[in-house]
Amino acid sequence: MPPLSRIDMMATLTIEDPSIASERAENRPEEDRSNDRLRLESELRALTEVAKTLTAPLELPELLEAALQRMAQELEPAEAGVIMLWDPSAGLFRAAASIGFDREALGRIGIRSGESITGKVYDSGKPLLLENPESVAQAMGNLRTANLSYLQQARRKDGIPQSCLAVPLQVEGRRFGVLVLQTLHKPAAFAYRDLPFVQSLADLIALAIDRTNLQAQADASRQARQEEHMRSEVMAALSHQLRMPLSAIKGYASALLLDELNWSEAKRREFLEMIDEECDGMETLIAEMLDSALIDIGQLKPEPQPLRLPRLADEMSGEVQRRSEQHSLLVDFPADFPLVEADPHWIKQVFRNVLDNAVKYSPEGGLIVVRGEARPADVLVSVADQGLGISPEDLIPLFEKYFRARYHNGYHIGGTGLGLPIARAIVEAHGGRIWADSKLGEGTTVYFTLPLLPTLAEEAA
Ligand code: ADP
Repeated sequence: MPPLSRIDMMATLTIEDPSIASERAENRPEEDRSNDRLRLESELRALTEVAKTLTAPLELPELLEAALQRMAQELEPAEAGVIMLWDPSAGLFRAAASIGFDREALGRIGIRSGESITGKVYDSGKPLLLENPESVAQAMGNLRTANLSYLQQARRKDGIPQSCLAVPLQVEGRRFGVLVLQTLHKPAAFAYRDLPFVQSLADLIALAIDRTNLQAQADASRQARQEEHMRSEVMAALSHQLRMPLSAIKGYASALLLDELNWSEAKRREFLEMIDEECDGMETLIAEMLDSALIDIGQLKPEPQPLRLPRLADEMSGEVQRRSEQHSLLVDFPADFPLVEADPHWIKQVFRNVLDNAVKYSPEGGLIVVRGEARPADVLVSVADQGLGISPEDLIPLFEKYFRARYHNGYHIGGTGLGLPIARAIVEAHGGRIWADSKLGEGTTVYFTLPLLPTLAEEAA
């Protein structure tokens, strides 16, 4: 039987009887023993340094890279090394950090379970020492052609490595991947005695990976809990906001239906107007919820067409003006304003959300100016009000879903925290940007950009 691998021998290596080991050590010349001592001291130093490095506040790939570098300094024969981590969603091992390889080519490699050295070491959970090109070739025998070609590009060399030492990365039965060290030019470079050092280092690396994974899981579940909490709060607020107009509508309608009372024509009209107004409010609320749900499931698909923005701005401002006598709306676009490339249905929604806010958050009325400016590559629209304004801390999360500023100067202003995120999703789906500028107590300006019609943009360029 060919000496396929030394997996089984390696497994016994770490459980050598200590009395035999010490007896053997005592029979060796003094010079050898002093070299061993120096080597052990140096390895211990390297392990301590790597342990320190792995607790640094860096991203995982950087930590792994630093650990590999330090290992290569200590283990002089290693000319190349890679940490292959298992990606469960892809069902593949991918390179997470490397030294001595072309990173781009290495990044294209995707190793399957059981494939090549990485797959075998991961499956067995045991280290593997391959001392010559023949045994390396045998272990890499089932490496798929595309992977072999990427590996050769990554090594900038044909053929296969001269020798290899691979150890699993695992903590208490949780396996993450494999650390593979290779010599590209030097034959029979790794020895059994390198194993304890390399395995200890791999264990430190595995601990760092474990810690990062646990941290990521904790962060994700904290975020999920926060989102869930926010969603419940919003649902409660929404139910309340839907119930209020509904109760009003029910009240007016029931009153109108009372046979005993003979309402005057003016009173009947007043009640019907109230019902009409409350229905409008409910419609807006439900539309926002629906738009947000559409965006969530990726159904925001604008159908851009050449669009005259000044006309749309006029139409939307007129709509808002009719609903508020307290405010004066002014639309200011230059006469030669260029055509933009946008979907009128969705852009109307942006104007509606931003203008509704301008009205809602200036409860004492004031001027609202909608302005357009043509720029070389796009157009800039701004909506400025003279309302309550927004504090600098609240400006940061302003466009996040469900966010509502904490301070409305004692006014109770209803809302869902969905209007601006919807506006942002729409503007970004058109290739534009949206942001706001504000001063507490002085007013807010919301800006958004939209791309020019492609032909106009080309001419401008
Ligand atoms: P809402 O339904 O709460 O109005 P939005 O997403 O439209 O949700 O707005 C998020 C928050 O941003 C609002 O709750 C409000 O605090 C603040 N905001 C938005 N527009 C303005 C504005 N023009 N002036 C002051 N605050 C604003």
